Amino acid sequence: MGQTDTLLQERPSQSVVTTDNSAENLYDKCQSLARNLWWSWHPEVINLFRDLDPIRWRQLDHNPIALLKEFTPERLEMRSTEMVLFSRIHHSYRQLKEYVSNSAHTWGATHAGVLGAMPVAYFSAEFGIHESVPIYSGGLGVLSGDHIKGASGLGVPLVAIGLFYSQGYFKQHLDQDGYQGEEYLETKVDNLPMEPAISTDGLPATIQIETRTGPLHAKVWLMRVGRVNLYLLDCDVEGNLPEDRELTSRLYGGDERTRIRQELVLGVGGVKALQSLGISPGVHHLNEGHSAFAPLEVIRQAMQEDGLKFDEALREVARRTVFTTHTPVPAGHDRFDGTLVEEHLGPLADSLGISSEQLMGLGRVEPQNEKESFCMTVLGLKLSRQANAVSSLHGHVSRRMWSHLWPWRVEEEIPIGHITNGVHIPSWLAWQMKQLYDRNFEAGWMSRMGEPEVWQEIHRVDPGEIWETHSALKNLLIGFVRRRLSRQCRRRGEDDSRVEAARRVLDPNVLTIGFARRFATYKRAALILSDLDRLNELMNAPHRPVQLIVSGKAHPKDEPGKELIKQLANCRHDERLTNRIVFVEDYDINVGRHLVQGVDVWLNNPRRPLEASGTSGQKIVLNGGLNMSVLDGWWAEAFNGTNGFAIGKGTQHVDESVSDARDAKEVYQMLEEKIIPLYYDLDIDGLPRGWIKMMMNSISTLAWRFSAHRMVMDYTRTSYVPAAGGLSCDMNVV
Ligand SMILES: *Cc1c(COP(=O)(O)O)cnc(C)c1O
Repeated sequence: MGQTDTLLQERPSQSVVTTDNSAENLYDKCQSLARNLWWSWHPEVINLFRDLDPIRWRQLDHNPIALLKEFTPERLEMRSTEMVLFSRIHHSYRQLKEYVSNSAHTWGATHAGVLGAMPVAYFSAEFGIHESVPIYSGGLGVLSGDHIKGASGLGVPLVAIGLFYSQGYFKQHLDQDGYQGEEYLETKVDNLPMEPAISTDGLPATIQIETRTGPLHAKVWLMRVGRVNLYLLDCDVEGNLPEDRELTSRLYGGDERTRIRQELVLGVGGVKALQSLGISPGVHHLNEGHSAFAPLEVIRQAMQEDGLKFDEALREVARRTVFTTHTPVPAGHDRFDGTLVEEHLGPLADSLGISSEQLMGLGRVEPQNEKESFCMTVLGLKLSRQANAVSSLHGHVSRRMWSHLWPWRVEEEIPIGHITNGVHIPSWLAWQMKQLYDRNFEAGWMSRMGEPEVWQEIHRVDPGEIWETHSALKNLLIGFVRRRLSRQCRRRGEDDSRVEAARRVLDPNVLTIGFARRFATYKRAALILSDLDRLNELMNAPHRPVQLIVSGKAHPKDEPGKELIKQLANCRHDERLTNRIVFVEDYDINVGRHLVQGVDVWLNNPRRPLEASGTSGQKIVLNGGLNMSVLDGWWAEAFNGTNGFAIGKGTQHVDESVSDARDAKEVYQMLEEKIIPLYYDLDIDGLPRGWIKMMMNSISTLAWRFSAHRMVMDYTRTSYVPAAGGLSCDMNVV
């Protein structure tokens, strides 16, 4: 394969028309690029923005709109001359235009034609698209972001609906004692790539929802994510009571009442918004229970338009509704008491012609059981005919958990399937690694990244080339961590020697383990600290040391989670571990990207089977890191003996403390006996051959399978197309 960018190869040679290099034209093109989040998964465009002003780019959280505000067209032109950016600006702009205007030759055009005029409406409470758009908290949001980016790339007709949180999720700072503090920052709307969505009457779209205690209003924003339009509802509008204007300001903040009101806006408001925009979805996809009120409003519209009775409309709507559940613990599902449900859904129930008892029954396993609260997952399951969990193991767990909804069926026949999560490769793949693939894979491989054949080529790549690329990325990660740690020390007001020491922390030649996730207790972040003497020996072994980089937030109300953060962060006060365990504050997509692109090993040790899928380990694969994980979530179906490391045997003891102790031992043993020896076993060229072989196995067997492309293709074939009333694609193909 040639060395040039495959995207460049596909383009016809530049037309002879002279290009307009005027300051205004360049400025407008950069603005257009900044206003479609398509740029966020195109390294050549990211590099273009960075080259405009590398320091401000970093300081502004990689936000191109904020960056461009600091430029006049004249200054942009000057900078373009200095950095020879003209052709790069024109080229990127042309690529974006072609991408957005042309979906005729995509996978979706062939396989999801039935959705053409009636797209999928994808509902989610959070979307993690880029660190500069803070409307996500963690895994669920990143998954939603990756889902819509995947749909965009495949050309699957889809619109997305979410909420606009003006303060997003919190910024995390740890104090001297390692205790988590939370800071909420108001996002500047005009620094975000959004604009008011315009309704069919030509005015900015707004919606109104009746409740027993008065109406709720929201406006609708449009955010462009490649070919996908993401509509975000925002309650900060005139007409709302002051407290309601703040209803959507924070993600997962507030009490039960805030929560049901947010979910009312997302579900019922979302459906109303689509109607006012003139969009009639062929399928509604509810990503997690938060949006499960949506089908009720769809039912109301169907009754009104087609004169159906409630039961008929419900059957009709459920056929076209897809529901994905993400939570394997009963306590993790949203539940509301009857009073809150009546206050918020009462008026809708009236127009559906059902009583409050019938309404409550829709959210209960046993409809008549007055002791049962209203569960959003139950509602989602009852209002959809296509339901799925997010990994094979999670499918089993979910069928068992909800078997009493279908008491006449045996467990295997409970109608909850599974589609395992995947990650959006262009968003998580390091640029250096992409270049390696570009050099060695077939041209145009990125348009086929959900296919296994593409990735087999990795076995033919020179091991030295892989190792060099990985080492370069690891160095970048360590540079990033050092900058962050010294900044953390400075903010806490620590003395200069501490700040200076942080600038030299970690060693690029040492086996580096990463652990970053939400600090929910079931993820057992402190498992590795359970035997400090053994850990000390292992981490400080003279010729084969180990270091660990940790990051993650705890929910503001999760005190046990905060306690775990403290334990890990305070390792820096233990002189045996001070240069071996570091805690990077404020885990977000940016921190995540650096970590997954640079570590050698990704540690994941949740209490089985509580990790529904997990996706961070999938990001590791793409960049050549190896997974070391409990056989839970996606890893239970991914591990094959030669593509990473398994902790335990895929079983759990009924007594949690026994499981914890057993798994902790396994973690140490796995490190001592397998991981450390393999990593430090170098050949005469200084290459760890066995390790590199495992990297190749991991990439070739896992990258395609756990990609968002494969995931969205699965949803399209098994859920969207059948729900839209089309034949499934497999039947279409002769
Ligand atoms: C990928 C990602 C997650 C989800 O990872 P898990 O494996 O589910 O913990 C959470 N937060 C961020 C910022 C991510 O990038």
